[in-house]
Amino acid sequence: MKYIPYGHQDITTEDIQAVVRVLQSDFLTQGPVIEQFERMVAEYCGAQFAVAVSNATAALHIACAALGVEKGDVIWTVPNTFVASANCALYCQAAVDFVDIDSQTYNMSITALKRKLQEAKARNSLPKVVIPVHFSGQSCEMEEIALLARQYGFYIVEDASHAIGGSYQNGKIGGCAYSDMTVFSFHPVKIVTTGEGGMILTNNKELKQNLLQLRSHGITRDRNVMTEAANNEGSWYYQQIALGFNYRMTDIQAALGVSQMQRIDEFVAKRKKMARHYDEKLSDLPLILPYQHQDTLSAWHLYVVQIDPKKTDRTRRQIFEFLKEKQIGVNVHYIPVHMQPFYAELGFKKGDFPRAEAYYEQIITLPLYFGLTEEEQDYVIDCLHSLEW
Ligand SMILES: *Cc1c(COP(=O)(O)O)cnc(C)c1O
Repeated sequence: MKYIPYGHQDITTEDIQAVVRVLQSDFLTQGPVIEQFERMVAEYCGAQFAVAVSNATAALHIACAALGVEKGDVIWTVPNTFVASANCALYCQAAVDFVDIDSQTYNMSITALKRKLQEAKARNSLPKVVIPVHFSGQSCEMEEIALLARQYGFYIVEDASHAIGGSYQNGKIGGCAYSDMTVFSFHPVKIVTTGEGGMILTNNKELKQNLLQLRSHGITRDRNVMTEAANNEGSWYYQQIALGFNYRMTDIQAALGVSQMQRIDEFVAKRKKMARHYDEKLSDLPLILPYQHQDTLSAWHLYVVQIDPKKTDRTRRQIFEFLKEKQIGVNVHYIPVHMQPFYAELGFKKGDFPRAEAYYEQIITLPLYFGLTEEEQDYVIDCLHSLEW
């Protein structure tokens, strides 16, 4: 059996041809395909606006910047995420803090969020932005978070890097029904890829304007947006009105995105089918399988199992190494962000978020991606059964 990674892109001849067409066109970057990709994703998700950027890390950064996050502000996210969800606060000179996860969904715990908000209010240190992360592709309980946002007055940016194609209640993730903005990642292991890429969706026109400026040096050519009169300046004229970045996506990447988006439902359906297959075949092992909240349809970016310490003495490390020896590219999502050395320097420590930490000790991510064959998946399942638990 050849090595099976935990995630992998699926590229067709049509994808390749779409990219080649852009390479033969006049615009390699910031051409017509970017807007086509933005419209396509916005329509798919039911959001009014979409802004494509170079990656989801950049997307999170300018989402915070567009909300005016600055020194003195605090942003909250979860420890069970990729470091980028927290780093975006620090890029804006703001502080970051975490809300522990729910032991069932592995998403932000509503109970923990409520408690922390009460405490923060008493100390006059409420967050400016809360960034819930739709872990593994399953939406957080957004209605509850939005109610708290109204009560305590914070913005919501959904980190949906795992979750394009998933749903919450009656809407697609990305529709921003309960948030100010939603961020997607198009890294190759995610559901849809552009190589590197990210996108921010919103229903707020002003935020969209801010995002467009921040994506491209803080420069505008729109005279309605300029802060000084343009007077007799000609059509060459532009103004830099903020400190922006070069976070543009290329048309080459957008072309891949447009082509990939045509298969998004197929991608998610296949992942869901494979998740069901794991659910069925692994239910007799001492593992805790992924729980699905009734309001959600996961996009199934990841299939994470927990070793159940009540049912086996096997450690996560033993099982992880065993599967690696069998050429199975298992992974761990995630080492809690607050336990990273960089965050320890900021004052966080082991014990701060006990549920995320306990979860981390027991988890393994199994291979799950569009091109994973039935034979390969059954090999993973058989290997797990061959272990002496
Ligand atoms: C992948 C990922 C990111 C960062 O995405 P990039 O496009 O690689 O910058 C951010 N948050 C989460 C939860 C992710 O999984």
